[in-house]
Amino acid sequence: MDVSIVLPVFNEAGHLVTELGRIKAAMDASPYTYEVVVVDDGSTDGGVEELPDLKQVRLVTFPHNRGSGAARRAGTTLARGEVVVWTDADMTYPNDRIPELVDLLAGWDMVVGARRVERGTRRLVRVPAKWLIRILASFLARTRIPDLNSGFRAFRKVVAGQYLHLLPAGFSCVTTLTMSFLSNGYSVRYTPIDYAPRAGRSKFHWWKDTVFYIRQVVRMVLLWNPLRFFAPIGVVLGASGAGKLVYDLVTKDLRVATNTVVLLLAAALVLLVALVADLLVQLNRSRDAVLPAHTTPDDPAG
Ligand code: UDP
Ligand code: MG
Repeated sequence: MDVSIVLPVFNEAGHLVTELGRIKAAMDASPYTYEVVVVDDGSTDGGVEELPDLKQVRLVTFPHNRGSGAARRAGTTLARGEVVVWTDADMTYPNDRIPELVDLLAGWDMVVGARRVERGTRRLVRVPAKWLIRILASFLARTRIPDLNSGFRAFRKVVAGQYLHLLPAGFSCVTTLTMSFLSNGYSVRYTPIDYAPRAGRSKFHWWKDTVFYIRQVVRMVLLWNPLRFFAPIGVVLGASGAGKLVYDLVTKDLRVATNTVVLLLAAALVLLVALVADLLVQLNRSRDAVLPAHTTPDDPAG
């Protein structure tokens, strides 16, 4: 099978059938064989019962609500396609363009649909918060990330399989997957997409989910690139300590102040922790990581 489309659903009655119809029409018109894995994340509005009985649709039902990350993870684990597509069931993403997204994946490990505009509830809080996190993540992953939390993407299942156990249950799971790919040398490309107004209510809680989101970005860095997190802190502490030391020596006649010693010790501690963290990451590297798409040889026999 070529493509598995994972569709997490939590109370999307009213437009779920339309969304599925849109996906089916696009996929039927494409050359790809496919399945849609609908994960009902404990919906209570009866929307899932309205779904037509189609042979391409597999339904997984959670007895209670666990979060879109948990739903995406379960759907991806069950996926039989070589390529997995993530999207929402809320009419926001251009799901009629899924075949195009899969075309773009040739020679790449992930294609992300980058939204041209940010919509949704609480824009005043959400837009600056997401911008800040995106800048932080771009710095930590050493690459520009046009849209860190887009829910519309296609990727190679074998690559993602290595990180599924790291996906959090909540919304930051899409960010986690992007950062997992980027931090481990896999290629991610972006394609601009339009983002339509949402049908139904968003499940994003502005404060709870934002705090969790920042924590998850920091966690990702500590997991794969701890030097990127600790080194700047150590360097700032060390430089201030060294500066203060010179000042003490010059102006205080060789007597070193207590705060100078504290600064230098703090810098030394941070650098030591950084080295230990880095060692843990190196030790945890997998012996048989999946090769990135661009390293696959042209002739499989060779
Ligand atoms: N969703 C889910 N479980 C949840 C919350 C959301 O399965 O606890 C689904 C939801 O039905 C949608 C997708 O995950 O298909 C993304 O959720 P939503 O659109 O509310 O988030 P946003 O796009 O606003 O970040
Ligand atoms: Mg959505």
